[in-house]
Amino acid sequence: MTDRRTELADNLARVEERISKACSAAGRPREDVTLIVVTKTYPASDVRLLAGLGVRHVAENKDQEAAPKAAECADLPLTWHFVGQLQTNKVRSVASYADFVHSVDRARLVTALSAAAVKAGRTLDCLIQVALDAESGERGERGGVAPDGVTELADALAAAEGVRPAGLMTVAPLVGTYAGRPGAAFGRLMEISTGLRAAHPAANMVSAGMSADLDDAVAAGATHVRVGSAVLGVRPRLG
Ligand SMILES: *Cc1c(COP(=O)(O)O)cnc(C)c1O
Repeated sequence: MTDRRTELADNLARVEERISKACSAAGRPREDVTLIVVTKTYPASDVRLLAGLGVRHVAENKDQEAAPKAAECADLPLTWHFVGQLQTNKVRSVASYADFVHSVDRARLVTALSAAAVKAGRTLDCLIQVALDAESGERGERGGVAPDGVTELADALAAAEGVRPAGLMTVAPLVGTYAGRPGAAFGRLMEISTGLRAAHPAANMVSAGMSADLDDAVAAGATHVRVGSAVLGVRPRLG
């Protein structure tokens, strides 16, 4: 495990350098940006090593994988983020370990998350996932609400018990007008965020940027980057 620890430490240092560089280039203090390490497909032992290396935020995208991993790592000082498409029948489980849900994209999910959070006696910080490709009439398969649906979901989150609107999340579109232009996509997300914050000032998180485009996201103003492969290695293709 010593080798794996060194590998993770080296990768983390490289990612940290990219974030710092992007922050100084944008004239932003480094502490404006929180690194969330996406540990999907990697074992709980890696999560443990990452916690030992100072990582405090981890993310998963599938409840069936995340629930046992979070349970195994319950003794670690970690904040858990759920970033995957969420079915309402998984909400109860997710609400038991997740602190942040980044993938709220429909009213039914708000209702379900609220009920589950109340039952669990927890408060869930919820980010609305924005599908920027919906604007050009295209639609990726990653989920998300069209930009013109953000306000309604934010109002619903603010009105419901056990949940609160925490901000916005996006994945840079692979199709449509923003394909190959992550900087432009993240710029558009920032505009939508400005509108959201006018009505909900506390909903100030902007979760954008992954291994390939975290630099563009930091330049645009992201507050949270979600980095998987650049820290843990390229995920093996399953199946
Ligand atoms: C997997 C995943 C990431 C991390 O992607 P990498 O390219 O491995 O950095 C970020 N966000 C979401 C929603 C993901 O599913």
